[in-house]
Amino acid sequence: MSQTMINAVPMWINGRQVEPAGTRRGNVYAPTTGDVIRTVAFANAKDVDCAVRSAESAFETWKETTALQRSRILSRFCDLLKINQEPLARCISEEHGKSFSDAMGSMQRGIEVVEFAVGAPHLLKGAFSDNVARDIDCHSVLHPLGVCAGITPFNFPAMVPLWMFPMALACGNTYVLKPSEKVPSATMRMAELLKEAGLPDGVLNVLHGDAETVDALLAHPGIRAISFVGSTPVARHIYATATKNGKRIQALGGAKNHAIIAPDADMEAAANALMGAAFGSAGQRCMAISAVVAIGDAGDSIVELMAHKARQLTPAVTGPVITSGQCERIRTIIEEGISQGASLTLDGREWSAAGKSNGFYFGPTIFDRVTTEMGVYQKEIFGPVLVVLRVNSIEEAIGLVNRSPYGNGVAIFTKSGVTARKFENEIQAGMVGVNVAIPIPMAFYSFGGWKDSLFGDLCMHGMEGVYFYTRRKTITSRWAK
Ligand code: NAD
Repeated sequence: MSQTMINAVPMWINGRQVEPAGTRRGNVYAPTTGDVIRTVAFANAKDVDCAVRSAESAFETWKETTALQRSRILSRFCDLLKINQEPLARCISEEHGKSFSDAMGSMQRGIEVVEFAVGAPHLLKGAFSDNVARDIDCHSVLHPLGVCAGITPFNFPAMVPLWMFPMALACGNTYVLKPSEKVPSATMRMAELLKEAGLPDGVLNVLHGDAETVDALLAHPGIRAISFVGSTPVARHIYATATKNGKRIQALGGAKNHAIIAPDADMEAAANALMGAAFGSAGQRCMAISAVVAIGDAGDSIVELMAHKARQLTPAVTGPVITSGQCERIRTIIEEGISQGASLTLDGREWSAAGKSNGFYFGPTIFDRVTTEMGVYQKEIFGPVLVVLRVNSIEEAIGLVNRSPYGNGVAIFTKSGVTARKFENEIQAGMVGVNVAIPIPMAFYSFGGWKDSLFGDLCMHGMEGVYFYTRRKTITSRWAK
């Protein structure tokens, strides 16, 4: 076997590792060193068909299992995830670059979704109305859809897949997962753990690849529903194509998450929270704060505090970005910001210039006095770059946030209940924080944004996840005496 074959991450079809029919491969990097650590085999249309057929065949028996049987398998899977949390976190750290503690935290959030999915027997209870008319009863049941597919981004190699397939399986569906080709290994390990937990072969299949693989999934008539998480242009394309092809679709897109800082906020607490929210995981979180909207006097104090604290951050704390290309893209956007007149308070380009590491590192960057016309505000940078916009009132701040095309996460820092309540009521976003910079909903609520951050009607996990992965049927029956 050649070295390439030994290092290539294979596909997972029908309960075992499979080499793809296609010959295309991608490189998997360790962003902390910049080295290629393995390759990954890309699936072509033939491989996609093979995975879908395996899932179709498994559906015939999986749909007949009871919710309790499915729940027991997921419960064992959950235990195995907990036992293997550290090695999985190390694998995530290696391919993504985020710190081990960050990776452990993201695993924990994924495990919580599995714990929610274990409640399938309760979640899948329908409703019953006795005697809606003489001798007539009415009840509703939730049926699985069939074969579902998930397509996930690089920034949460295990957590985002765990938003999808455990809920789908709990609801009686079978699955084809295509994780990001940049971070393929964690999902392969999770597929093995599910098999160890007792999952029948073919119920979960894993394919790797890029746009070609995704387009084959979108075109395959055997797939009933697609869950997607990634950037907005791809989310829009996937939503349009899947809808045209008659599939149910939830497509979570990109973000530009704002934090409003009121003049009465606890500035120290806000600045501390913003360090993690803006620069943790090198700003590569879909809920990362990338725009601060400072009201009045808050501007000077928050910028001074944030710049002071951000200077103390180290590459080991923030982690690298995902590719060298992303480093170059961020550099170009920063140069554009300078040329458009934004004030560069902290310059992250200095990190790479100072040769702090061989990996794909970019230092925390803060732009002050940014306007909504500037590229640094309009683009989703997905790096450790925070822009500060200054306004004069809460009304102006809310108006500015609401004009953004994105509506994923948003936060306010204030000591005023009146200001917080106005913000909660008027802000147009799916996930809202009050003195909480990253308001990620727990597994038993649903995760998803508004506007260009979500295409489709139903969010991930929580009851919306159950509704996404089921089809409701209402039965009216007359049994006259
Ligand atoms: P991406 O859109 O580049 O890739 C996401 C997935 O789509 C990957 O599996 C990739 O292989 C596939 N893909 C890429 N280009 C494609 C194309 N042209 N056609 C079909 N499929 C394609 O996103 P990424 O860089 O992996 O992840 C970062 C993005 O994900 C950011 O925009 C971030 O905001 C977003 N994100 C959003 C959420 C959310 O909850 N809304 C969560 C995590 C990440």
